[in-house]
Amino acid sequence: MTACEVPTKVERPVLRERGQHEVFCGLTGIVWLHRKIQDAFFLVVGSRTCAHLIQSAAGVMIFAEPRFATAILQDKDLAGLTDANEELDRVVNRLLARRPDIKLLFLVGSCPSEVIKLDLSRAALRLSKQHAGAVRVLNYSGSGIETTFTQGEDACLASMVPELPQAASTAPELLVVGSLPDVVEDQFQRLFERLSIPVRFFPPRRSTSLPSMGPGTRFLLAQPFLADTARRLEERGATRLAAPFPFGVEGTTAWFQAAARAFDVSDDRFAAAIEPAAARAKVALQGAKQRLAGKRIFFFPDSQLEVPLARFLSRELDMQLVEVGTPYLHQEHLSAELALLPPDVTVSEGQDVERQLDRCRAARPDLVVCGLGLANPLETQGLTTKWSIELVFTPVHGFDQAGDLADLFARPLVRRTRLEV
Ligand code: SF4
Repeated sequence: MTACEVPTKVERPVLRERGQHEVFCGLTGIVWLHRKIQDAFFLVVGSRTCAHLIQSAAGVMIFAEPRFATAILQDKDLAGLTDANEELDRVVNRLLARRPDIKLLFLVGSCPSEVIKLDLSRAALRLSKQHAGAVRVLNYSGSGIETTFTQGEDACLASMVPELPQAASTAPELLVVGSLPDVVEDQFQRLFERLSIPVRFFPPRRSTSLPSMGPGTRFLLAQPFLADTARRLEERGATRLAAPFPFGVEGTTAWFQAAARAFDVSDDRFAAAIEPAAARAKVALQGAKQRLAGKRIFFFPDSQLEVPLARFLSRELDMQLVEVGTPYLHQEHLSAELALLPPDVTVSEGQDVERQLDRCRAARPDLVVCGLGLANPLETQGLTTKWSIELVFTPVHGFDQAGDLADLFARPLVRRTRLEV
């Protein structure tokens, strides 16, 4: 296997737009985070709208006790006529008395709780003291004001960083940062074992086994939307390993390679550990590649996965990128990805939705990746769309998921062909 050399930095113009934008709010992250951290509970402090969003995005849990809920702020709370803190304490105490399985409680802020300036960080401190030894209470904001939906995970993980215990030694250890489906985490764990790299995952499956960290901690981001979490880890002395993200064969190889280099794994050992999985993944891409090669794709900004996915589609499936829009462009975290994009593609940050829709309609791409709100209008105008939120809910990282990831993009084109027959 040849080493995957990633150029470190390429200067490219970025189209920056600040206008009306169409995104879901950070509460959406609860949908995958409550599945990942199995002893955590997410209590949204919000309105009926927030409750409806969570309920319809996550579905109803019929067989299990739910691990998310909304403490609904009433009109009198919003008008400042009652002490919302007292009511919140009552709700939390009732919940924790009934559910001894909860070991970590997140108070999740929303637009309404922010509008009335309900201080959830003080509430979390107060409740943490009350329930010390039994339940940890943290808070973060999932509000939709000026954010996008994957920022909910970033805010959640960032709130947990101060809780990570200090490592007893300075021995190097790897931390993989970002919520991954368990099946993907298990695959990554096996590959790191073959490389003899000691690894922990953050967030963990149980809040009672938070990974320790110290000056020996090196971390790899598994998701491109974790700017605040990464900053807090760095503030605690951990070192980020720069790498593309583990999507597709090339991204996953380079991601593992960044760890292998930091932990002095020999090239031979790296090849022996990684090559079989990479070879299988290359084969798995072939079906979708036949359908996608040469097709033109346009990304609206939504999930923050746009740049790594565009790199994968262009370099491994020969798709042509028309525009790659992303809500935020973290130049440092994405520098390896940006360097791998073709030089002529338009990269845009932020959104002015009407102008972007005009560009998209004028370009008439074969496939548009966008949020739910834009998909139906674009479909009625004859464009084929893919919901970007699906890419966050589906296991798409790593070698074993590369074929599935490619198929997610091929499927809407197949569906459109069938409809036309
Ligand atoms: S947090 Fe804000 S944007 Fe999200 S559902 Fe609640 S009111 Fe709507």
